[in-house]
Amino acid sequence: MQKIWGIFLALAILSSCAENQKKDTKAVAQIAIEKPIEKKYGFDIEKFKIVHDTIKNGDSFGKLMLENHVDYPKIVKIAEEFKDTFDVKRIKVGKPYVILKSKDTLEKAQVFIYENDRVNYTVVDLRDSVRAYKSKKEVSYVQREVGGVIESSLSQSLDTLGVDYAVTINLSEIYAWTVDFFKLEKGDKFKIIYKERYINDTIYAGSEPIEAAYFEHKGVPIYAFPYTTDSLKQILDYYDDEAKNLRSTFLRAPIKFGSYRLSSRYNLRRRIAYYGYKVRPHRGTDYAAPVGTPIIATADGTVTESTRRGGNGKYVKIRHNGTYSTQYLHMKKQKVKKGEFVRQGDVIGWVGMTGNTGGPHVCYRFWKNGAQVDPLREKLPTAEPIADSLKIKYLDHIAPIKTQLDCIQYKVFEKEEDNLLTLNE
Ligand SMILES: [Zn+2]
Repeated sequence: MQKIWGIFLALAILSSCAENQKKDTKAVAQIAIEKPIEKKYGFDIEKFKIVHDTIKNGDSFGKLMLENHVDYPKIVKIAEEFKDTFDVKRIKVGKPYVILKSKDTLEKAQVFIYENDRVNYTVVDLRDSVRAYKSKKEVSYVQREVGGVIESSLSQSLDTLGVDYAVTINLSEIYAWTVDFFKLEKGDKFKIIYKERYINDTIYAGSEPIEAAYFEHKGVPIYAFPYTTDSLKQILDYYDDEAKNLRSTFLRAPIKFGSYRLSSRYNLRRRIAYYGYKVRPHRGTDYAAPVGTPIIATADGTVTESTRRGGNGKYVKIRHNGTYSTQYLHMKKQKVKKGEFVRQGDVIGWVGMTGNTGGPHVCYRFWKNGAQVDPLREKLPTAEPIADSLKIKYLDHIAPIKTQLDCIQYKVFEKEEDNLLTLNE
């Protein structure tokens, strides 16, 4: 019975993917028909002779204008009158400019356009009564869907797919608390939906923040959708398909709330009667609980150690990112192996009494940049969970985007032929 449902589900996803693709081709066809007439900087370029150039060493606005038959008094007038809009002294070497010249034999400059940056420009219209103004190029947004399999590094894979480096940075920020991007596995997969900016529909001008992402690390899928939970403060966070915040901070304790007693805090000046009241620093936090109580990972990460050693007894150590690791001692038994990727809240072992311990507890050790610190005193990144009242709204909101993500196919480079292939998953 379950199998039949599986097939139904697969068919439903397939058909919705096919529908999406149909929609895409339709949209493309419409764009092709509505191609705009050729206009540049708001001028009908058919009427002028166009010169594109960049400001060179020794160039000045006056020199360029004199070379293009604009008389000296007019140049002085522009320099004085339009100082606020166009300060002739502030033109910079290397900046592109455009001169629209008359089509007659004189080729006199009619319009001077200075490009302040890729989008903004300043126009000096030299015809009749001179005027100067600032303007912007038309920016259009094109949504892009990419999917890939990691061969060596994330940036290399995204680069191969022609994705801006800014998107790579954005993706690593979104998953900073979930996936350790310096320890990626070959075969990890990703899918991203984002928009690219284009000037005049053709010139690439950067990327917008990621709209949705999917990352599969060691076979564990993690979705990411941006969502604003606090409309007043405009807090934008990324959440997974179960409304869990990806910027998840560490759980307060490695045992579910209500099942433990905090028996000993981190204390560098601890004195113990047994040792003749000598200082025996305690760099862990002890949570007493009955033998067999599940111990959970306080944040997503990769298991770097799962072993038994001396006073620690049976323990597990997890690396969360370049900064933080956590360690869980005196287990009765571990549930995870070295190299395994675990998510926050996953059971990694059970409370026991292995190693040096007077009673059943888990000694929780928190490492920051290789040194042990007190997690209860650390300023850790805070992450607001989605309120229960917003959860249904959130899940409704992401449903179509999730379908769109699920429909993206992975592209991989075949090493020998360097051909982009499409993988069907
Ligand atoms: Zn301890």
